[in-house]
Amino acid sequence: MLQTPPDLRDKSALVTGSSRGIGRAIALELARHGARVVVNYCRDSAAAGAVCHEIEALGGQAIAIGADVRQALEVERLMASAEAAVGAVAILVNNAGVTHDNLLLRMTEAEWDDVLATDLKSAYLCSRAVLRGMLRMRWGRVVNVASVIGLSGNPGQANYAAAKAGLLALTRTLAREVGSRGITVNAVAPGFVETDMTADLSEPARKRLFDRIALERVGTTDDVAQAVAFLCSPAAAYITGHTLVVDGGLSI
Ligand code: NAP
Repeated sequence: MLQTPPDLRDKSALVTGSSRGIGRAIALELARHGARVVVNYCRDSAAAGAVCHEIEALGGQAIAIGADVRQALEVERLMASAEAAVGAVAILVNNAGVTHDNLLLRMTEAEWDDVLATDLKSAYLCSRAVLRGMLRMRWGRVVNVASVIGLSGNPGQANYAAAKAGLLALTRTLAREVGSRGITVNAVAPGFVETDMTADLSEPARKRLFDRIALERVGTTDDVAQAVAFLCSPAAAYITGHTLVVDGGLSI
């Protein structure tokens, strides 16, 4: 039987926020492609440990490292621990994200700041921390997990839409800064994926979204993970600064 090619063998990957949801699926998929994976989490060390066990059961190598990616010092510590454990990070997936939804008039400064810090500033901090190693290797893959909301906007999500749109601009800019050094920087923009983040969506809101999905199903975490793995693979070597929409046609 044909198997997934281990095309990322000898590469170390760090996936922020990979204790559950989309990040967990990305960590598993990169491990299936042969990468050694750092499973980053903020609060749930047991869940992160379980992801590592799953990867080890597949014959892969993984380590869980806790760090709040909103904080520069924690990110520095995360990268130092990651490098000590699995070697220089060649693949960075900026996936950690939160939502604090509210109409703009009611949105608190804390809701704004936390989403901007978790969903956007973290990508700046983590990219800055791994780039020197990637420049030395003359090879690197950065994939930012954005959202179709960053393209379209969405009432009640001004903070999230601004953060994700910022992430897309960061993607294009960094791609131009480091392209000459063999480093690609891309984004995926998922649509509606069933995870803890979308679990609280009301039935009417869920139906409204569902009715707009051309492929007539919600996205799975694997749908997104496979797009991320593609962007890290040799097949995507000539793709940079791109946003790959993974939404079943929601945003058509
Ligand atoms: P999720 O199930 O809520 O998981 C969020 C992950 O982020 C968890 O592993 C969490 O770790 C981690 N995290 C949160 N704050 C963190 C911090 N300060 N430092 C480090 N890790 C942190 O969310 P998801 O649905 O998988 O979303 C993953 C990414 O996809 C996000 O960027 C999200 O915006 C994006 N996205 C999701 C959808 C969707 O429909 N679900 C659609 C478009 C885009 P702990 O549990 O340890 O705190």
